[in-house]
Amino acid sequence: MQKKHKKRRSSCLNIILGLLLITIIIGAALINRQGFALNTPDDYKTTPETEMAEPGDIDLIPVSIDDIQDTRELWLVNEKYKIKENIPQMTVVSAYKKVPLSSSDIKMNAAALEQLQKMLSEAEKDSIDNLVVTSGYRTHEKQSELYKNADDKSYVQKAESSEHETGLAIDIQSVRHGIDIFDNAREWLLDNAWKYGYILRYPEDKTDITGIAYEPWHFRYVGQPHATFIKNNNLVLEEYIDYLKNNKGYTITVDSSEYYVYRATVKNDKIKVPKTVKYTVSSDNTGGYIITVLLNSK
Ligand SMILES: [Zn+2]
Repeated sequence: MQKKHKKRRSSCLNIILGLLLITIIIGAALINRQGFALNTPDDYKTTPETEMAEPGDIDLIPVSIDDIQDTRELWLVNEKYKIKENIPQMTVVSAYKKVPLSSSDIKMNAAALEQLQKMLSEAEKDSIDNLVVTSGYRTHEKQSELYKNADDKSYVQKAESSEHETGLAIDIQSVRHGIDIFDNAREWLLDNAWKYGYILRYPEDKTDITGIAYEPWHFRYVGQPHATFIKNNNLVLEEYIDYLKNNKGYTITVDSSEYYVYRATVKNDKIKVPKTVKYTVSSDNTGGYIITVLLNSK
């Protein structure tokens, strides 16, 4: 009798312990989910792979925006955020004899061209030797003309809302298969362009956000570490700028360089930049400035 009692008591204890364990597991899972929610803006399904950084880690000082060297590499240009006419045109250089072109008068942003040269020579090593740049920088006038003459306007943006006017966008195609790049060249670009600071600007699964039909040939230079972050988190430029607006920033390591990226808003014509650490600045064409801080480089 005594023994039976003991047995029942111990099985009761087991059930209680079991229930307690389940409660702990569910509780931990819930806390974890909440932790994710804190770091993730509501409209994103993905969680950034990099850790949030605290701006407090770096000494920041206010600097007049007139004294800032603005690369404009992170400009968001679309129907909502147009290129304002009073803004000086971007500086561009000729791409002639630097990369394969469909027309000798193609020009581009110098930094974007430098990386494109590296990208195409790397592609050649992987036997992707059929890539040709078919479009780069376009003036307002050129873009208006293209829009006016286009039969299918879903692939051509109106003047002032095309990022071709920044000199940072290129159209690239395979000489063998035409504009759709239906061969391994497309796969290669999707897998490798980000390493050279380029992003596929209008992906197939983000047309509702970009408002532009899928364009497998259109790549946009944003530089590092932005292209890596965008690729890792499967974002488009619209989402990336929103992400920076809604978060304090992020840290990321690319090619053994550690960066801290944050977005600064203008107060009294000034933005806050690091006091002692190296950094670059790009306005984003939506009212803010994105600061790329080089924390350390090996
Ligand atoms: Zn394009």
